[in-house]
Amino acid sequence: MAEILYYDYPTVTECTAQVVSCEEKDGKYLVALDRTMIFPEGGGQLPDGGTIEGAKVCAKILDCRTADGEVIHYCDKPFAPGEKVRVVLDLPRRLDHCEQHTGEHMLSGLASKLFGAKNVGFHMAEDYCTIDLDIPLMPEQLEALELAANEAVRADRPVHTEVTDEADALSRTLRKRAEKAQGEVRIVYIDNGKIDSCTCCGTHLPRTGMVGAVRITDAQHYKGGTRLWFACGDRAAKAAIAEHNAVTALARQYSTSREELPKVVKKQMDELASAKAELKQKSILLAEKTAEELLKKASAERPGRTAVICGLLPGMNANDLRLICDSLAAKKDARWTALLFAPSAAGTDYHMACSAGCRLSMKELCAAVNAAVNGKGGGGPLFAQGKTERQADEDIAAMLKNYIEKAVD
Ligand SMILES: [Zn+2]
Repeated sequence: MAEILYYDYPTVTECTAQVVSCEEKDGKYLVALDRTMIFPEGGGQLPDGGTIEGAKVCAKILDCRTADGEVIHYCDKPFAPGEKVRVVLDLPRRLDHCEQHTGEHMLSGLASKLFGAKNVGFHMAEDYCTIDLDIPLMPEQLEALELAANEAVRADRPVHTEVTDEADALSRTLRKRAEKAQGEVRIVYIDNGKIDSCTCCGTHLPRTGMVGAVRITDAQHYKGGTRLWFACGDRAAKAAIAEHNAVTALARQYSTSREELPKVVKKQMDELASAKAELKQKSILLAEKTAEELLKKASAERPGRTAVICGLLPGMNANDLRLICDSLAAKKDARWTALLFAPSAAGTDYHMACSAGCRLSMKELCAAVNAAVNGKGGGGPLFAQGKTERQADEDIAAMLKNYIEKAVD
């Protein structure tokens, strides 16, 4: 069993050690040492990073985990068993993890004390951290929680660990305890339990002041409770800067101040919704007028027979074609078949529809159009639609009109 330094000597950043074993697995070298300060992944906390320097090579520690109680360093280079090495901790990475982890204890402990919320999950990733609470929290409660956490930072209260056994741990009043704690149990107290008390195997900062700042960056309802995203220390400062820059850029785009931005965006959203509703109404009116004109012209071309509407409608889009087909479908007393193309820079949309009882199925017509313009589409007996990257032209329309006239008579 290796001598573990990360608990008793958290400020140690370098040590000498001897290689106990080294095995190759999936291109990485799994190294066990007789002494280490590299914290392995555990308790929701990410593993430390660093290097192991031998006489000939310097290996990067890519990952670190425990296996059968041993700390295993996943390295990019091998060592010989018995080799003397120097282990060097990636201190900025350790401090970042400690900031997030200690901050997580503060938020969880304070959420429990302020609102009776229970922490049911914690996740620390390389670029974000989340806490899952078992009850929904309102925005004003999240604000109160963030303020209380930062008040605890400014108060610079002590964080200490007590090591005991399971029976003693069970007799203590704690916010949270590991369910399967066996043998030696580590209990972390923040401000002697006034802020938090919890069994934990992670590494922590010695005082709350070192957390620097706590930011709740987002929150969502999750499984009947709340999932909150948070950032501490350097990550909190960077999160605040990123938010500030994003909001400032938006405010400039809207030619307003950051404070007025929500009001200005809401006003523009309302105006947009109103303009969309107006456009929709005008599009329907235009479609009705176009449908009427097209049917009148086609009926005059083939008196007494099924009117065949076929042509290009430049300036219109797929939605306009659909509205024209809907307007035609409302004319129950007419016999008609329509094939409409809307050419644009991106290609051509096509819609086709017919009155009930037409001898030509629109599914069949769509297959013919797909083949003629190298497009994709489909539909049913009374309606079909498709799209091609090609530009449909008058020649194709004339050819298809001829096909429709023969098929419907
Ligand atoms: Zn902890």
